[in-house]
Amino acid sequence: MLGSLQLLQPTTVDEASGALRDFAERGKVYAGGAELLLLMRHGLLQSEILVDVKKIERLHGIVWNDGTLSIGACVTHHTLETHPLVREHAASFAYAESQVANVRVRNQGTLGGNLCFNDPHSDPGTVLLVHNASVTLGSQRGERQIHLHDFFLDVYETALEPDELMLDVEIPSLPSGMISAYLRLHRFQRPTLGVAVAVKMNDGTIAESRLAVGCIGPKAQRLGEVEAKLNGSSLSDAKRIFAEQKNYLRDVLRPVDDLLGSADYKLYMTGVMLGGALEQAAQNGHKSD
Ligand SMILES: Cc1cc2nc3c(=O)[nH]c(=O)nc-3n(C[C@H](O)[C@H](O)[C@H](O)COP(=O)(O)OP(=O)(O)OC[C@H]3O[C@@H](n4cnc5c(N)ncnc54)[C@H](O)[C@@H]3O)c2cc1C
Repeated sequence: MLGSLQLLQPTTVDEASGALRDFAERGKVYAGGAELLLLMRHGLLQSEILVDVKKIERLHGIVWNDGTLSIGACVTHHTLETHPLVREHAASFAYAESQVANVRVRNQGTLGGNLCFNDPHSDPGTVLLVHNASVTLGSQRGERQIHLHDFFLDVYETALEPDELMLDVEIPSLPSGMISAYLRLHRFQRPTLGVAVAVKMNDGTIAESRLAVGCIGPKAQRLGEVEAKLNGSSLSDAKRIFAEQKNYLRDVLRPVDDLLGSADYKLYMTGVMLGGALEQAAQNGHKSD
């Protein structure tokens, strides 16, 4: 059961940030509530004041401008999976959004809520890393832009300051000719493993690649060292390279044993699924514009 709660509905970032500053620990940002209300119902989080940010116009909208897709933090997963601009300019991201949970959660949950909660078992962040996405954070003190890679700090930890809101997410298009794919492994609704790749092929060899893996450790990560090793390789060489890079993958991804599987199993499946995603991208993945 939830105790009594006060709901504030600010219409500006300034007002919302002021409320967060004034109420400090007693106040929490409330977007779709998919995570927040569950935690409160189970007594895992106490809050007296919910600062509902959905009435702030700045946090809505999907705009394509100068090679970058800008998405308001309060846009829901369902809108993202179906929106023509997202499907055209970030097709694997739209696909990843279609895989989130179930239609109820996708209608309720927002992109900002997903990224700010930073549950390791999430889909969108992994694909967004392959796009080199960044987020804009805002408070009464002004706005700042930060790469998503630096925004994710650790399990459920982000670079958000207590009085800050996520305003929007900027998603640059992939370089011309690069093709992307996202694959996920799941036994329950939340993913056990998610891999995102983008690749540019040249005469059957990899000219350029981007790889990201999420869910098996504390946070989603790019695999810069493996990306460099793939240049000039064929797709079958790439599979061998993934198997050889097991120690690097373990160091970067820090896989954990849990009810979804052992760390060794997750690491093995990471190599298998990266190979599969590269193959899918090279054959029939989603082309950037
Ligand atoms: C049953 C279930 C299954 C799920 N399965 C998946 C899955 O398969 N894949 C996946 O990726 N996710 C999954 N999720 C997670 C889901 O995507 C997130 O719960 C949802 O996106 C959170 O968004 P929200 O708007 O509801 O956030 P809320 O619950 O409102 O907020 C979540 C957190 O983010 C903070 N917050 C929200 N918006 C902002 C903002 N603009 N600025 C600053 N802080 C903010 C809140 O204060 C809170 O701490 C699942 C969730 C459930 C309940």
